[in-house]
Amino acid sequence: MKSPTETSVRNQKFAADRMLGKLAKWLRVMGQDVIYGQHLSGYGLIRAARAENRLILTRDRGLKKKQPPDFLFIESDHYREQLRQVIQARGLRPLDNAFTRCLECNLVLEPRSKASVEKIVPPYVFSTQEKFSWCPKCQRIFWPATHHERMIEELKSLKID
Ligand SMILES: [Zn+2]
Repeated sequence: MKSPTETSVRNQKFAADRMLGKLAKWLRVMGQDVIYGQHLSGYGLIRAARAENRLILTRDRGLKKKQPPDFLFIESDHYREQLRQVIQARGLRPLDNAFTRCLECNLVLEPRSKASVEKIVPPYVFSTQEKFSWCPKCQRIFWPATHHERMIEELKSLKID
């Protein structure tokens, strides 16, 4: 049984400032909803976070003078430490929703039937893979591949308890 609290913390949304691209990418690997981009710093970041009720992730010490909504000041320069900090601070579970979101577009991937991708993916992939999904925005097709295993190892190596 999962308590309501656990469910709600997993549905958090984040707005990462433009210094935190790698952290944003890894949070998306974990299936988290994170906006990130060059326009997201200072007041731009605050506006975007407010508009969608997102938690700001920032390394900008000056941000708090700009009366931001909720934010988490990221302590480290290194993305592994940053990821650890966010996971611990917000009670995230790294593997529960991994690989459910497009790393480029931040949209949740949708399932695709195997038959529907026959003409799209390489023949070798079609003959060896059974599960496919796609991003409704960039229309890229995804399937479980070896880089997933490396990413899973990376997430496990964070050793969060
Ligand atoms: Zn996409």
